[in-house]
Order: sequence, then structure tokens, then C-alpha cells
Amino acid sequence: MPSRNTPQDAAQSLLLPELAQKDAVRLAAVLLPLPLAGPYHYSVPEGLDLAPGDIVEVPLGQRRLIGVVWSLGGEPPQGTKLKSVLGLMPVPPMGEVLRRFVDWVAAYTLSAPGAVLRMALSVPAALEEPKTVTAYLPVEGMDFESLPRLTPARARVLRTLEGMPPLTPAEIAREAGVSAGVVRGLIDARLLQPVELSPRALGGRLDPTFTTPGFSPDQQAAAKLLRRAVAAHAYSATVLDGVTGSGKTEVYLEAVAEVLEGEGQVLVLVPEIALTPQMTERFSRRFGAAPLIWHSELTQAQRRTGWRSVAEGRSRVVVGARSALFLPFADLRLIIVDEEHEASFKQEDGVAYNGRDMAVVRAHLGAIPVVLVSATPSLESVVNADGGRYARVHLPERHGGAELPEISLVDLRADKPERHQFLSTALRDALKETVAAGDQAMLFLNRRGYAPLTLCRACGHRIQCPHCTAWLVEHRFRKRLQCHHCGYSTPLPEHCPSCGEADSLVACGPGVERVAEEVAALLPEARVLEMSSDTMTGPTAIAEAVGRIRRQETDVIIGTQLVAKGHHFPHLTLVGVVDGDVGLGGGDLRAAERTYQMLHQVAGRAGRAHKPGRVLIQTWQADHPVMQALADGERDEFVERELQERQQAGMPPYGRLAALIISGPDADAVDNLCRRIARSAPQIAEVRVLGPAPAPMALLRGRHRRRFLIKAAKGFALQPLLRDWLGALDVPSNVRLQVDIDPYSFL
Ligand code: ADP
Ligand code: ZN
Repeated sequence: MPSRNTPQDAAQSLLLPELAQKDAVRLAAVLLPLPLAGPYHYSVPEGLDLAPGDIVEVPLGQRRLIGVVWSLGGEPPQGTKLKSVLGLMPVPPMGEVLRRFVDWVAAYTLSAPGAVLRMALSVPAALEEPKTVTAYLPVEGMDFESLPRLTPARARVLRTLEGMPPLTPAEIAREAGVSAGVVRGLIDARLLQPVELSPRALGGRLDPTFTTPGFSPDQQAAAKLLRRAVAAHAYSATVLDGVTGSGKTEVYLEAVAEVLEGEGQVLVLVPEIALTPQMTERFSRRFGAAPLIWHSELTQAQRRTGWRSVAEGRSRVVVGARSALFLPFADLRLIIVDEEHEASFKQEDGVAYNGRDMAVVRAHLGAIPVVLVSATPSLESVVNADGGRYARVHLPERHGGAELPEISLVDLRADKPERHQFLSTALRDALKETVAAGDQAMLFLNRRGYAPLTLCRACGHRIQCPHCTAWLVEHRFRKRLQCHHCGYSTPLPEHCPSCGEADSLVACGPGVERVAEEVAALLPEARVLEMSSDTMTGPTAIAEAVGRIRRQETDVIIGTQLVAKGHHFPHLTLVGVVDGDVGLGGGDLRAAERTYQMLHQVAGRAGRAHKPGRVLIQTWQADHPVMQALADGERDEFVERELQERQQAGMPPYGRLAALIISGPDADAVDNLCRRIARSAPQIAEVRVLGPAPAPMALLRGRHRRRFLIKAAKGFALQPLLRDWLGALDVPSNVRLQVDIDPYSFL
């Protein structure tokens, strides 16, 4: 048994201070893309020079993970054996602004920093050394003409390649108009020689002088102001508030041009993937090349090259969904949030953040301008502009003298559709006139499928999703009932599942499929296009449909919100809103605001070019302030009234809200945690805790859900209070506690 005080021990302890100095463990705190409390510490091996932001590989348990050096130095944590950083990844380091942004978002949303980092490292494959591409050239110095038995196809390839840069086999086949087999044959015969190339920059170079629009005086003034904001190289926030069709996009492209002239990068956030093909077209027209598109439906290869080209500064303009905020821009100089009022900027799952608000934060951290664009700015932005925190630019008129459409209400109490029909006489007449005149009409209904509810005539049973608090929606084309919340689907039954009666089930209410059926009966000759996420999957299908509409290959478009936003349809002269009341129920804080914004946006599709447009909104609540404001074109008065109500109620944007959502498969466990949360709720005058209450969606995907709503004064720092309160709770593993700061959904 070794004794403790051997001479060797003594010698070693004597040597220790010196050793410690020489071998002072260099420490790196590495943040991992996992929902952990904070960074983990690793030692830095000899010969590896690290700086904050470096992207490194580290061991964790049996795994190897990619993380980011968050800081260097400090004391090694007690009681754990330090592992060592394995190596540095061959990518540019994560910039300081993005790292601060990750920390900021985590602190604000009460998420683990690693969970936020995961959004910034969303493409692990991009971190590897990029694969080279093998391209081919004709073998140098060979006289092809003298080759015996050279087939005409092979000869054509060799002639085509003369003076060309190296091309991939697919490109060669395309250029020479031969099959892939011919190219392969030439490679095998060693008449083409390989060259290894690094992947090319995506797309062409955007040229700020490719075209220059002639602006109206209002547009000119707005463009100048935005250009100045870019040239200032400092944080600023500007609301670009202009009526639909006023040229907002055209104007903000000037700010983009200013950045391109200075060699920086731009991020344009759009609320809907469906809008990206249209953006590609707008950018290409103005700058002669397409921007990089970023959203969740890209292929892995597209994500990999895209991420890398943003990190290396080769992609100068990114148009993307909210997740693009977390891209590792090399030199971001401007952020534009198009349709900034859209609720779809809010992410509900995982890290609950609002892309619009976080865009402002990222601009602030990076000392760059942000532009919030809308025809109906959110009340949050209105209050910020009124208070002088944001600048405001206004475009009051449509471009080229186009008139704003005439909006009228169809009071369904007076003009009631026939039984099992959903279009009033007024709307049917308008449709017939429009189509007869050779113009286009659009019917808007934000309900997918055939009917939102299926009811048994015999027993009154309503068919509900077994996993959610929701009716099943009939999709007649597919002959199925479907849950729009969890994806559950079942064949349309022939008998009532409750009483067993045959042929007793009836469809209640309209969806776009049912309206399409009604239009087909009304106008059998008309070419009808139904657009919803069921018929159009993905941006390409939507772009194709939009092309057909623009080429006037369709007479009547029937669509959900998919068609409502942002599109420019020059031949569209009639917009009919089938059910204007859809969004008004439910007591949601923003129900009125959102309905107004949505219907205003839909109405804005009409009459954008030479022919004047008109809009008919069918409603059972023709006296509702939202309907009155739409009909009278009194946007600002409506906003003013809404703001007064919010102020009186202490609601956002004048007060602060946070929601807690407690959910789990076991209702008792959920209720148990709710009781503990309620018992430990802070007793402070500035904060009101409402709940627990069953969520309106009390069952979702088989999970029982309860909600708390926490209300505080605007200046009150809710996060520290929530962190202390909720951090002290022991949350069982079968229950999830989600925190939603500034909630948009109250389901
Ligand atoms: P908004 O974004 O405000 O809805 P857009 O920028 O889409 O408006 O403009 C509406 C239409 O008018 C587009 O087709 C656009 O190209 C065109 N337009 C706007 N301003 C100009 C201009 N100054 N010169 C030429 N076309 C313009
Ligand atoms: Zn369901």
C-alpha cells in the first residue's frame, strides 16, 4: 500500500507551483446546441489557439458534439475531470453580434442558451470542409481531329468544351446536348480530365445599378430616407407604412441597393414561404440576379451551401423566414421585415420568440438599421413610432395612379345565402359580372377543406378529433376527415360513429372546397383555381399558380390566406370575402386587429393596375367596428380606438403579458404542477397571475393543457420574476412547462 508522505510526494508538491505555471490549464467555456443551463468547460490542448466564437468539436459523454467557444480563461470547475477540446472546425467563427444575440434571445424568452444556439447552428453539415465538385476539361494538347473512331456525339462535346471553364458532367451533357452516357464514355476513355473545384457561390452577383426605377416624389423621399439610414452605419428603426400597391417593396429595394453598393449583406424577412418566389422575381428584376432563399423546406444540400455562403459573405441578400435571423452573416448591414404585422413571425414551439421583435434586437446589437414594412402596421409598431422610438415613412398613394379598391359590406342578415350555399346574391352577381367582363375575381376564405364540422342529423353528434379539442374537417376531394392540429385523419364514415344511423352525417359550414363547388355550379364555364395548402404544397407549386393567374389562365381564384398576402395580380378586379367574421370570435386580445389587417390585406389584392377594383365583405356583424372601419377606409381611427381600449385594459402594447402552458399526457400530473405553480405565485402589486385554466385547446396531440396568463405593467421586468418563481419548481418528466413571453396565441 503506498504511503502518503513519500519523498516523491514531497518532491512533487515542491514542483507543483512551477508546473502549474508552465502547464496552466487553458480553459474554454463551450456552448453546446443542447438545452443545458450554460456552457461547459474544456481544456484547450497545446498548439490550439482559440478565440471566442470559434466553432469547435468537443466530447460529451460518448458523443462528439459541435459547440461554440463562449469565453476563454477562468477557473476550472471543481470536482469534475476536464476533457479537452478535440479540434477547430473549418468555418469562420461565430461573430460577436450573433453570440450576444443568442444570449439575448435566451434571456428574453427564458430559454436555455444552447436551445437558441441550436437555431444558429441549424446546419451541422455546413461546418464540415465543403466537398469539392469534380469538373472536367478536354485533355490538354491532344489533337481530337486526328482521333480515330470519334463518334459525332463525342466530337460535339469536345468542340463545345473548347475555351470553356471546367464543367460538371451534368453541365457538359446539357451544354453539348448529349446524354450522360456520352460524357461518361469520354471520361472513361480519358479524353476528359478531372479538376477539383470548391462549390461555386450561389447565384449571380446582385448589381445595384442593373435597373433604376423612376420614383414618384413620395417614393423618392422615402427611398432617400432609407438610403440615409443605411449610410449612417448605426442602429435605427423605421416603419415603412404605405397603402397596398404604393411601391413599398420598390422603395426598400433602394435601401438594399445602398447596402450592395457598400459590399455588405442584407436580410429580408417575409412571413410566408409562399412569398419567396415572388421576391426572387422582384430582386432579379431590380438587381439582375436572385437572392439566397432561406426557409425550412430547403433540401439539406441547399441549406449546407446556403449557410456557408452567408457565413463567408458570398451571399449578399438573404430572403427568408424568421429562422434566417440566426444565420451567421459575415457583414450584415440592414434588416427588412416585410408585412411586419404578421403573426406568423411569432414562433410558438421550442424557443418562443417573435421574429419581428428579435429583428429589432439584432439590428440594435449589430448597430445597423431595421425597416418594418406594412400597410397595416402592428399596434406595437404604431406606439413605438408615435413615441419617437421608431422613425416613420408614409406612402399614401398607390403607384401609377391606381385607385384603392372600393370596399362594401354585404350584411348577411339582409342578403342571406340559400340553404347550403355561402355566397349572397350581391356577391354572386358581382362574380358573374366580373367573369363576363373578362376580368378576374378572387374569393377568400381562411378555411381549408370542404366543411369545418360534420354533424349527425339523427343524434346531433359532432365528429371530434380523438387527440385534440377540435372538430374534424371534411376533405371531400380526399374523402377523409382530418384534424388540422395533429394531422389525424380517418375515412369519411358512412354511419354516425355515435348512433350508427346511415346517411345521417351532414357537412356544416364552408371550406374552400365547398365554395369552389358552389362557384362551379354558378359559373360552369369559368376556370376556377383553388389555392390552399392542401392543393399547393410548397413554394414552387404556388409560384406556378401565381404565374397562371398573372397570365390570365384562370377566372376565379378561391383561396385561403395563402393567396391573400403580398401578391400582385394585375387583372384582379373583384375580391369577395366569404366569411369576414372568421377571426372575430374567441376573445383573443388581437382578434379585431388581426381581422382588420387580414381583410385589409386581402382587399389590397384588387385593382392594383389599370382597372379599378372592388371588394365585397360578407358579414353577420356589419356594425362591428372592424367592418365599419374597413368599409369607411378609416384605418387610423380604428387603430386609435383599439389603442385606447388596450390602454384602458393595461394590455399590450401598453402592458406586458407572459403565458405559461403546462401540458402532458396525464391530466392529474398536469393539474398537480399547476397547483404548485399557483401556490408559489409571486404576490406583488404590479403583477397579476390569472389561472390556471384549461386552455381553449384543452387537449392537443393527446396532451392535456392548462394555461396561466401573467400580466404586468409595461416597464416591469417579468423575466427575473419568472426565472425565480419557475426555477424553484421541480417539474416532473411527464409534464412540460412552456413559457411564452409576449404571447400571440391564446389557444
Ligand atoms: P407594395 O409593396 O406597397 O404593395 P409594390 O412595391 O409591390 O407595392 O408595387 C406595386 C406594383 O407597382 C409593383 O408591380 C411595382 O413593380 C410597381 N411599382 C411601384 N413603384 C414603381 C415605380 N416607381 N416604378 C415602376 N413600377 C413601380
Ligand atoms: Zn387532432
